[in-house]
Amino acid sequence: MKQNRALKKKNLKILIIGGGIAGLTTLISLRKRSSDAEITLVDHRDFHLKIPRLHEVLRNPSPPIKIPFKDIEDRFKSRFVKADISLTRDAIEGIASSQRLIISGESIDFDYLVLASGLSDPIGAPETPGCLSLKDFVEGDLEPLLNPKTKTQKSGGDIVSIVGAGPTGVQFAFELMDYFERIGDPRSIHVIDAGERPLANFPSRVSEYVLDRMAQRGIKHHPCQRLVSSKPRELILEDRAGSQHQHRSGITVRLTSAPPFTTFPVNLFGQALINNRSFTRVYITGDLAQFKGPIAPAVSAQSAVRKGKLIASNILKSQNWFPLLRPYLHQDRGYIVTLGGRDAVGWIGSRGHIVTGSFALGLREMVDKQYDLLLEGIDTFIV
Ligand SMILES: Cc1cc2nc3c(=O)[nH]c(=O)nc-3n(C[C@H](O)[C@H](O)[C@H](O)COP(=O)(O)OP(=O)(O)OC[C@H]3O[C@@H](n4cnc5c(N)ncnc54)[C@H](O)[C@@H]3O)c2cc1C
Repeated sequence: MKQNRALKKKNLKILIIGGGIAGLTTLISLRKRSSDAEITLVDHRDFHLKIPRLHEVLRNPSPPIKIPFKDIEDRFKSRFVKADISLTRDAIEGIASSQRLIISGESIDFDYLVLASGLSDPIGAPETPGCLSLKDFVEGDLEPLLNPKTKTQKSGGDIVSIVGAGPTGVQFAFELMDYFERIGDPRSIHVIDAGERPLANFPSRVSEYVLDRMAQRGIKHHPCQRLVSSKPRELILEDRAGSQHQHRSGITVRLTSAPPFTTFPVNLFGQALINNRSFTRVYITGDLAQFKGPIAPAVSAQSAVRKGKLIASNILKSQNWFPLLRPYLHQDRGYIVTLGGRDAVGWIGSRGHIVTGSFALGLREMVDKQYDLLLEGIDTFIV
């Protein structure tokens, strides 16, 4: 109690490692409810990346998917420090125990630490020979990547292959179809899928809708095919019986999820359990949090926003004499995948409630807009 009184007298110091969706939501929610907290954000990039909207680079040459942390610093009266933090359990235990992080000789002290460094870096994945990756689309110039007049691509035929049929692979397949149609050079789009159906983690009706739309648009689905090796214009695929064959491809985009996937266990309130020790002043949020309970929070942008808000609330509540912390027990309320600029499919409310077409697209755009507003300081999320 004495310690709590002491904390109230001085400004609360909060250090957030990771400025992704969960980290920024925590920062913004803290700032809205505590004008004098001293908040420091550390990230290894200069900018926040709106990951769920990466496919928009194919619609618009400069979509607003990168927000410089400098802007966040000014907008929400916080401090940004660029640094790549070692995220091993021992390193985090050391930082948590000493309540300070040393960066380039400077000691950053904190009362509360929030770890929000995500599951894996979608644009930092190791490169696959002969394949484009998300990094190429986010950091590169689309023209030389996809320009139909480029001789090397033409010599590989007009096939564009997407490896991976999760939400990102499916979204990119339709966006690429739209892109090549728009520039007047239609290509044959192929989706290489290790599973039996696209969007395997979604209800089967969602996959059926996607397969139907793929067939309508002429996108070819190759189920149960694993990528074994690749080089420019040639992939070696293996089916479930173990037989391998060659797949010619002018452009290949690899959009499978990228390990390593590091997670940190948390208790019911999002507090860290590191090396079997409980740290009540260290909260873990977003995809990094691994909660083993009756209802495990999903690994999604929606969930990252809700976890970020919850952690901000719990940090402020832990200042009270009798802190009534909120539990992590919540689930996703929906997930919608776009199929180009005119169609979408997913579920909303419960996994049995499937939405499609322009209605689904409108809902998806609304959620994207909600997040844009949050980054402006206007919170319309109901949690
Ligand atoms: C390509 C793709 C598309 C997706 N599409 C959707 C979608 O349509 N809908 C949906 O609901 N979900 C989607 N998701 C999932 C969603 O993006 C994640 O669940 C969400 O981003 C998790 O938020 P986070 O804050 O936990 O992590 P992230 O958003 O990954 O943020 C982590 C942050 O930590 C920083 N960081 C990482 N390591 C370090 C380090 N060592 N030191 C310092 N900083 C570090 C990173 O730079 C980053 O800013 C998608 C994911 C991917 C990869």
